[in-house]
Amino acid sequence: MRSTAHHADVIIIGAGIAGLSAAHLLTGAGLGVSVLEAAPRVGGRLATDEVDGFRLDRLGPLLCTSWPELTGTPGLGTPELREFAPGVLVHSEGRRHLTGDIRSARGALRAARTRSSAPWVHRAPRTPRALRGSSTSGAPAVSGTAGSAQGAYGHELGAPGRGGGRGGVVTGAIDRARLGAALHRLALTPEARLLARPERTAAEALAGVGLPGRTVEGILRPLLAALLSDPALTTSSRSADLALRDYARGGLCVPAGGSAALPELLAAALPPGTVRTGVHVTAADITSVRTKEHGELGCRSLLLATGAGAAAELLPGLRVPSFRPVTVLHHTAPAAPPTGRSLVLDGDRSGPVAYTSVMSEVDPSRAPEGRALITSTVLGTPPPDLDRSVRAHLAALYGVATDGWELLAAHHDPEAVPAMEAPHDPRRPVRVLAGLYVCGDHRDTSTVQGALHSGRRAAEAILTDLAVPGTHEGSLPRAA
Ligand SMILES: Cc1cc2nc3c(=O)[nH]c(=O)nc-3n(C[C@H](O)[C@H](O)[C@H](O)COP(=O)(O)OP(=O)(O)OC[C@H]3O[C@@H](n4cnc5c(N)ncnc54)[C@H](O)[C@@H]3O)c2cc1C
Repeated sequence: MRSTAHHADVIIIGAGIAGLSAAHLLTGAGLGVSVLEAAPRVGGRLATDEVDGFRLDRLGPLLCTSWPELTGTPGLGTPELREFAPGVLVHSEGRRHLTGDIRSARGALRAARTRSSAPWVHRAPRTPRALRGSSTSGAPAVSGTAGSAQGAYGHELGAPGRGGGRGGVVTGAIDRARLGAALHRLALTPEARLLARPERTAAEALAGVGLPGRTVEGILRPLLAALLSDPALTTSSRSADLALRDYARGGLCVPAGGSAALPELLAAALPPGTVRTGVHVTAADITSVRTKEHGELGCRSLLLATGAGAAAELLPGLRVPSFRPVTVLHHTAPAAPPTGRSLVLDGDRSGPVAYTSVMSEVDPSRAPEGRALITSTVLGTPPPDLDRSVRAHLAALYGVATDGWELLAAHHDPEAVPAMEAPHDPRRPVRVLAGLYVCGDHRDTSTVQGALHSGRRAAEAILTDLAVPGTHEGSLPRAA
């Protein structure tokens, strides 16, 4: 097994998170690996810029604490993750409602039932068809601690007058408890069961979900749009079920210090010299690659770990999916808006922002002392007057004046996330033929979890083909 300046057992094209995770497993098995990266830094789409003491992600970013690869990828160790507050704050008709927190679903249902004498309240909560599944003994780490209906689900923050729940999307404790119970059941549903369901668009599946329309339209729709980067919800219903299940299993988080921390951790744990940045591959076959800067390099196996478009340029015939455009804006304000660590969603779809949060509350290391960092995401084609319309929308969502806020950065990526339209195979083959492999989020789910998992699958296929012992050491199932 060897690796020199001009030869390696395995050449990996692309030092995004997929290529780096594969490199880890391959070097760990004793192979000589060269990771060639065109950009001057590792990480690909997981990029964090440093601006005036702020750490600004170019992406979303929404990660799920339940993703097995986030805590099970060799080289990542136990990454420092900063969690959002449980549930989400949905803004509708001038009020913000805390909802979607599954931890107190049972307690909330109990409390809501005893408070109401309506006969239907005493029936078992209807489990929506698209969320229905059986509990398994291998239950994930979701707790069912009791709590009061109001405490667990009924916070209405920043309201111009309290009580009543007259908002168009989030009404009483019963609705919120039903949603919590449905999410709880979804969290317990095995992945295989979700993947066996009929596949259609997420929007079509939502229509038959069995929860009140106001819950579906006001909470599930904006939550799924955020998780899938897909405002029209044309994504496969199976992918939507998986995304919602991952959310329900643990909630949302970001890497401490910025998303670039993840690939930087992986790269730093590789043997020195494994990653070579500023090396642009212009042509590739099974035994060699041609580079712009260093001529030809030889290998026994080749792994394409670029985005979908670049992979198809190097290997014509690979399918290129359509993409979801995403724009991320960072503002700073002298004082933090009053939403704490919560993710704020727009239940009314009344402006360009799909979701926003006070990032400096979620992860204080991203902003200098005494400054607030507000990170907001626009899905789809951004409006021409981006900052003005986003600012106006943020003023409504947070209930504070935003005129004095300063725009630190706006980053638009027209090919941010590969679309996962039906029929979508979340385990697309990573082995093209013996010696030639492809990984990246476009072979799995369009997430950090999907990219990491595809890298793991590709490394395992390479080790199997090369008959390297200890092939499946450290293998992780995607989920129970
Ligand atoms: C704006 C935005 C928002 C997002 N939001 C989220 C989110 O909220 N949650 C989530 O989980 N995911 C999100 N994602 C998606 C997530 O970032 C990706 O799924 C993941 O980073 C993909 O990793 P990858 O390794 O597959 O590909 P990439 O990160 O694209 O890495 C591919 C690498 O290959 C290199 N390369 C390409 N061509 C060549 C060549 N010819 N020679 C050498 N090197 C080459 C590239 O420079 C790049 O570094 C978002 C992405 C964006 C852009």
